[in-house]
Amino acid sequence: MSKVAEYDYDLLVIGAGSGGVRTARMAAATGARVAIVEDRYLGGTCVNVGCVPKKLYAYASHFNSVFDDATGFGWQLPGEASFDWATLRDNKTSEIKRLNGIYLRLLETAGVSLYHGRGRLEGAHTVAISRQQGEEQRVTAQRILLATGGWPWVPTFPGSEYTLTSNQIFDLDRLPERFLVLGGGYIAVEFASIFNGLGSEAHLIYRGDLFLKGFDNEVREFTRQEMDRQGVHLHFDTNIEAIEKNEAGYQVALTNGDTMEVDAVLAATGRRANVAGLGLASVGLSLNEQGKLDVNERFETDVPSILALGDLIDTPELTPVAIAEAMLLVDHHFGTVAPEPLDYTRVPTAVFCHPNIGTVGLSEEAARQQFGTIRVYRTDFRAMKHTLSGSQERTLMKLVVDEATDVVVGAHMVGDDAGEVIQGIAIAVRAGLTKKDFDNTVGIHPTGAEEFVTMRTPAR
Ligand code: NDP
Repeated sequence: MSKVAEYDYDLLVIGAGSGGVRTARMAAATGARVAIVEDRYLGGTCVNVGCVPKKLYAYASHFNSVFDDATGFGWQLPGEASFDWATLRDNKTSEIKRLNGIYLRLLETAGVSLYHGRGRLEGAHTVAISRQQGEEQRVTAQRILLATGGWPWVPTFPGSEYTLTSNQIFDLDRLPERFLVLGGGYIAVEFASIFNGLGSEAHLIYRGDLFLKGFDNEVREFTRQEMDRQGVHLHFDTNIEAIEKNEAGYQVALTNGDTMEVDAVLAATGRRANVAGLGLASVGLSLNEQGKLDVNERFETDVPSILALGDLIDTPELTPVAIAEAMLLVDHHFGTVAPEPLDYTRVPTAVFCHPNIGTVGLSEEAARQQFGTIRVYRTDFRAMKHTLSGSQERTLMKLVVDEATDVVVGAHMVGDDAGEVIQGIAIAVRAGLTKKDFDNTVGIHPTGAEEFVTMRTPAR
């Protein structure tokens, strides 16, 4: 009997999110016997309560300014546009159901066995799967992949139980007239823009002096100005002290002494590894100081038959990163050639606030620290569309170049479709192209994106 046949499966994946499903499908495609365990929805956070519904709601919120912009181009609107939350919410739910079905079919077609239940480690090769009816089943596998992702984390303060998380925010009964989000990261900034666009009075409370810590400082400041212009109420250097429920809504006391009354409070205060009940201790595993699982370059934990990826390990908490890790993991464990390691230093990312932020590589500050002498090319302008729309919205584009090598080490944009533009620029930055390569590239006219190849004079 072969070694593999000692186990029920070659690979058992716990968690059917982006990383887990991709690993299961790709491993099965190599001929491995694969199963996946999931007790919630197929597709994980991204499909169900993350990227997908967020992007749909961001589209919805953008229409607000589109209606205003259209009149300068000759469009007469029959009256005041109005927004119906229930239509958006229910259409979103139908779309997610459709995606859940696609995920199911992908797994079935790939020949992956699906167990509906909660997986708990019982040994280096054994997982106990408990089902809703209380039944428990033991399944063995040569390798077990932990792909349970992250879960929203909320600090404890008086009334913190009244806060919502991103798990609930998409399915509110109605649009909150007054909306408050706590935090200064991706989720806070995106939802402040979304609810503002949908017509709520939107407040963002952040404990630091400027949101989006870690992003390029000029990008952060530019985004602050633009969100302020859009009407988002930004409150920095303060925090929530307490929340009290009253008849009209929630009374929120801030640490700076201010109080405000709102209808919903979203806590966007970060996510933690989703390992409750996973049985890590039973196999001798524990989280490190960052609250993540340590893995080697083959995604093996300290128990070599147990693998982990995505939001469980200390790499950027982004869906495409989890998917890239899944492909790499499969190459390592089920492939025939040794794969190249993933380059985590030039991962492009977008924040879907209004206007969008797109970024790849180093911020000006990080580049200056790393390379000493750098050149910064930047431009900000009112996009052509807004000459007729009347909107005062501005776009920022910026390239950060290492003086010694002329290599573009960072590219940043705040403006319409910044994520779409930066995805292409990210290939050039990842390839290590120089500013001369950018200069030698012919622009596409008239676009905003052409500015990335026409900036000639360094700003500093
Ligand atoms: P982030 O880690 O990005 O931000 C958390 C925010 O909460 C920070 O501003 C942090 O402040 C603040 N915070 C932490 N603890 C407290 C506290 N005790 N009191 C007050 N504020 C606090 O988390 P998010 O929840 O926004 O998102 C989680 C992750 O999901 C992101 O990091 C990102 O990787 C991913 N994501 C990606 C998206 C995309 O690609 N577009 C969209 C949404 C999420 P401080 O800065 O001072 O630490």
